[in-house]
Amino acid sequence: MTPYALSTALVLAFFTAQSQAAPCLKVTLTGTQGGPPVYQGQAGAGTLVQYGDDENNCSAVNLQFDTGRGTTQRLSEAKTPVGKLNAVFLTHMHSDHTEGLPDMMQLRWHFASTGPKVDLVCSSDASSPAGHTLSCTNFARHIGDALINSGEVAQRLAENKKRLPGGPADLLNVMVFDPTEEPSRVWQSGDVTVSAVGSRHIPGHASYRVDTPAGSVVIGGDAGNDKPKPPRDSSTSSHVEKLAMGADIIVHSTIHPVMGPDKQSGFPPPIYFRQSTATDLGAMATRTGSKHLMLTHLIPPMGAKRQGPYPIPGGGVTEADYKSAVTDGGFTGNVVVGTDLVSVRLPQP
Ligand SMILES: [Zn+2]
Repeated sequence: MTPYALSTALVLAFFTAQSQAAPCLKVTLTGTQGGPPVYQGQAGAGTLVQYGDDENNCSAVNLQFDTGRGTTQRLSEAKTPVGKLNAVFLTHMHSDHTEGLPDMMQLRWHFASTGPKVDLVCSSDASSPAGHTLSCTNFARHIGDALINSGEVAQRLAENKKRLPGGPADLLNVMVFDPTEEPSRVWQSGDVTVSAVGSRHIPGHASYRVDTPAGSVVIGGDAGNDKPKPPRDSSTSSHVEKLAMGADIIVHSTIHPVMGPDKQSGFPPPIYFRQSTATDLGAMATRTGSKHLMLTHLIPPMGAKRQGPYPIPGGGVTEADYKSAVTDGGFTGNVVVGTDLVSVRLPQP
């Protein structure tokens, strides 16, 4: 082979390797239950965001946003064991978004105590005018307390001295931030950047955006409009909208307008008004120019006759009902009405 032919072959080989290893982003809903009830085994709220390339099936970086009930099971079904997570991000200190984390961390402590810590990214302590404080730091510090107090942690340590002496809390690297009005960076690894804004739901609520070379996704959490009730332009958050400008995918908690105070479900109006409706999310996703809207944390769940104690007017809400509510908001992109483990991959196959 001549030197010219050799260099041409090397260049071709390089570009072939590059094209085989195209970057990709995968967003999987690990739980779609809205609020504390449970319906037909749905897991609690959570979203797995993975970035990588074709050769590792987009799994070089694994980020979990919220950790509702059953997250460990869903992650195992998504072939991303708890031990593979790089970081966990919490939108707010409500159990339907956090209660899976003690289970996840106990499991990781049990089998991977000598491995890397998990970054836990969340808001700094937030005080309410009612006098209580929402504290992710305290949640993390006490994450193993029940199992420490039952004596289990000491018993497990006695059989394996390599486990960390303080229990699962020792495996968390807590990274708190003060939620801001404008998006600001809260985490980074290589090409992957996560930014956050403060948004209204309960004190300390934050929404996140992940940017990668393969695309971007916003996780709104349970955000609602700064104005707690009508009259207002929308039920959605202006802070989330700013964060979502130009984002490819929006994942957002959703309430169907059928639960509104004008529809006789008896659902408490303040709880209805602090969520974003499917129709207003459709309008917001249109304004941000997003291509995919993934509805999650569905209130009510599809097919359910009740949301907790509240009957659903009309006997239940279907996938088509959620889609038409979004279309009413003017959105013409891809609507995913969330079920556990549904995913969107960019670029699309
Ligand atoms: Zn919630």
